[in-house]
Amino acid sequence: MNRKKWPVMNLAAGPVEVSPRVLRALSRPVLYHYDPAFIEVFDDTCTLVQKVFQTKYDVVLMQGEAILGLEAAAASLFGPGVKVLNLVSGIFGKGYEHFIKKYSGEYIELAVPYNESISAEAVRAELSADPDIKYLSVVHSETPSGTVNPMKEIGAVAREHGVITIVDTVSGLGSEVFSPEDWGMDVAISGPQKCLGGPPGLSLITVSPDAWHAMERRAPPLRGSFLSILDWKDSWLAGKTFPYTPSVSTVYGLEAALLTVLEEGIESYVGRHQAVARACRRGVEALGLELWAAREEICGAAVTAVAMPDKTSEKDLRRHMRERYGVMISGGYGELAGKLFRLGHMGQAAHPAYLAAQLGILERSLVDLGVAVELGAGVGAAMRSLEG
Ligand SMILES: *Cc1c(COP(=O)(O)O)cnc(C)c1O
Repeated sequence: MNRKKWPVMNLAAGPVEVSPRVLRALSRPVLYHYDPAFIEVFDDTCTLVQKVFQTKYDVVLMQGEAILGLEAAAASLFGPGVKVLNLVSGIFGKGYEHFIKKYSGEYIELAVPYNESISAEAVRAELSADPDIKYLSVVHSETPSGTVNPMKEIGAVAREHGVITIVDTVSGLGSEVFSPEDWGMDVAISGPQKCLGGPPGLSLITVSPDAWHAMERRAPPLRGSFLSILDWKDSWLAGKTFPYTPSVSTVYGLEAALLTVLEEGIESYVGRHQAVARACRRGVEALGLELWAAREEICGAAVTAVAMPDKTSEKDLRRHMRERYGVMISGGYGELAGKLFRLGHMGQAAHPAYLAAQLGILERSLVDLGVAVELGAGVGAAMRSLEG
């Protein structure tokens, strides 16, 4: 069989490379899910998720990629005539429209261009103008555009108006220090495969007491469904049983990734993501390239999105980096296809060594493709930025 060559480095926007420790955890024996040893692992892993989220809210681990958690929140909360304000600053924000409409929410949109972020003031204006709005959905870190929304401020405005928030923080968790309580996140959804450096396949969800009440008051409450968050409350949270068989091995992988984060400490872990992202931006600028985000302040620490320079195409650049040098990065997709490429610095790639390699290969590839950049200029600027 003529199989494809694997990359030397996976620096894509997720799933990201995982550490040897996570790989070892994934290879542990598959336990029966009601084995007391697995119940202990699952319970401990939920506690670790709470610690990484810095929350006392209940945690539910749904057994599917984070899209499951995002759809489950919509299915568990929305119903006919329920007004939902959806904040759109990128592909994932826009994508949520589909779930809102599918579950009969009455759709209201507040949108900005995909290189911008939503201001809390604009959210306040929308909520003040329409007191019937019951829910607000927002993407904390818009991975496809490399931008973040001011979640803390938006969450505070939602609280002022008694609006329940559904927050996609799939690539936000691990890239900023926050807690759902402080940031007004009623249902926060994350995944292991981005900044946490774990394997894909799980939805990490925190649920506030207000959000539980809202799910219970929905007519009728969503139960007996793969999309039901309440099923997990009735089974796991009430009595340590499962609504169905969990993804045993993936839970091991998540546990190992969370332990790694917590042993380093959240502040340090996040600080490393922020410092490497900042250094990456300095490197990009030193090469004469432009950041995709309209302003430095709205750049996230998960990936750095770079506007595509003339003279080469996103497809050619990514193919060249992958085929010639074994470095896999992400491009733009959907509306952003061809317009940008993304440098990855999540999980173990939030490290100067990965950044230096990535920028070095980017420089080499740009020169190969006829884009005039000075070899070493980006790496040098990035490494200078890391001083101290
Ligand atoms: C990765 C990610 C998800 C999960 O979506 P996939 O396309 O299945 O990877 C959801 N939201 C955001 C912001 C993400 O970055």
